[in-house]
Amino acid sequence: MSVAMPMNAKYRKTIIAGNWKMNLSPRDAREFIRELKPLAVQAKWCDIVLCVPYLQIPEAVRTARGSRIAIGAQNCHQETAGAYTGEISAPMLVEAGVKYVIVGHSERRRDFGETDSLVNRKVLSALKAGLRPIVCVGETLEMRDNDITLDVVRMQVKTALRGVTREELRRGTIAYEPGWAIGTGYTATAKQANEVSAVIRAALRTVYGAQGARGVSILYGGSMNTGNARDLLAQPDVDGGLIGGASMRTESFGKIIEAANQNVPQK
Ligand code: PEP
Repeated sequence: MSVAMPMNAKYRKTIIAGNWKMNLSPRDAREFIRELKPLAVQAKWCDIVLCVPYLQIPEAVRTARGSRIAIGAQNCHQETAGAYTGEISAPMLVEAGVKYVIVGHSERRRDFGETDSLVNRKVLSALKAGLRPIVCVGETLEMRDNDITLDVVRMQVKTALRGVTREELRRGTIAYEPGWAIGTGYTATAKQANEVSAVIRAALRTVYGAQGARGVSILYGGSMNTGNARDLLAQPDVDGGLIGGASMRTESFGKIIEAANQNVPQK
């Protein structure tokens, strides 16, 4: 009996991405990836990405070689080179074997003053270098309370992608991450996550048309864990997760990868 393939499985990839933030050592990265590799072999239903701190990148890339685990960075500079002490550029990440980069994470917006237009410059730089940007958008609690979430997110998406061509968009991923849910233990309900993701897709549609928009994976991030992942990942406009806390242990990260399996058509 054939089962109808869900929209998201047909047009776009499911992506489960971990964000270790400023945690774990190069040795931890090696052990983590070694443990995750057997699961990654089976988990053909999703792309697996680990966004590790810069220093862990060489060890992570070496250990993940030959597996389905792609290594990502958590940020990049908007310029390719120059007098920017302490910064890392997108071409440097590519040379180190990085495939993905998180851009505009709410912690960078909040703690490092990253604006929508800076995020846009970083997105353009990442794309030009050949990276796959994971562009984070999302509202603060105050914005949600003031009922401006959808407007804010629409604006963040449009500004972040200014100048991005339809061809380049195919390498882009959006992560909807409500700031109030990140690292707090509070999670958006599946309905809230899907509502905002659908609005993001509609915003993409106005710029890139229906075909361009339906190919973009939209992830949810914000205290996703083994208990809520199934419900969140079952939403039609949620194509995966960007996971902080629960991505730092193979057991919980592995269970979230398993939860993404439900979007695969069962024979
Ligand atoms: C994140 O850092 O992007 C994130 C979603 O963190 P957490 O899962 O810990 O809320």
